[in-house]
Amino acid sequence: MNKTNTLYEGKAKIVYETDEPDKLIVYFKDDATAGNGEKKGTIQNKGIINNEMSAFFFKLLKDHEIKSHFIDKLSDREMVVQKLNMIALEVIVRNVAAGSLAKRLGLPEGTPLKTPVLEYCYKNDELGDPLLNRYHIMVLDLASVNELDEIEHISFCVNQVMINLLKAKNIRLIDFKLEFGRDEKGGIVLADEISPDNCRFWDMTTNEKLDKDRFRRDLGGVEEAYQEILKRVTA
Ligand code: 5GP
Repeated sequence: MNKTNTLYEGKAKIVYETDEPDKLIVYFKDDATAGNGEKKGTIQNKGIINNEMSAFFFKLLKDHEIKSHFIDKLSDREMVVQKLNMIALEVIVRNVAAGSLAKRLGLPEGTPLKTPVLEYCYKNDELGDPLLNRYHIMVLDLASVNELDEIEHISFCVNQVMINLLKAKNIRLIDFKLEFGRDEKGGIVLADEISPDNCRFWDMTTNEKLDKDRFRRDLGGVEEAYQEILKRVTA
């Protein structure tokens, strides 16, 4: 399979079209941004780690009958994925208060939530990815009620599969962000990546952060945290 055109270049990934029209190649970069692009840097080997971890989780989800766009790992930094018509939503699932939810609701970070919380954000850099509810999504014509039901069902299943795996590795899944697309028949398919860039992982004993918050908050030990979480997840 050969790359043809660049379809899209984002902050952390480049997506290429290929000579097979229904398949894309995703290339994972080391570039890191935070605060909607205000903070920029690189995290050494992040692209390799995120590719490897995403491939690992997508395969795990497939074993649990959750389909994703993932087809195969092509190289250290590349995976082959199914071409989808992407939905401009970020779907966030939270088990423990952290980040923007902790701020918004005035809950101390680390407070367990009585029930997992699902939130939507509009994937729109110009607007700063604002929080949306189902009515906003209808008004913007981003997805139908049935599609949102499906997206929520898949998201909570992903949460449960990941919690179960991570518990055995003494890691707490605080929260994560998913993205979805539609296949050629209009079916909802999980896309994007599952990595320390879009998940919060805390050590269950020490509460040490093993994710991108180390970069976002200048906590140091960023590369080491990415290496450590990959090692523990895939061990
Ligand atoms: P928060 O809303 O607390 O900043 O983020 C909640 C969760 O979603 C975190 O795990 C965070 O990594 C992820 N997340 C939210 N927005 C983005 C985004 O724009 N890009 C990425 N990679 N992850 C995000």
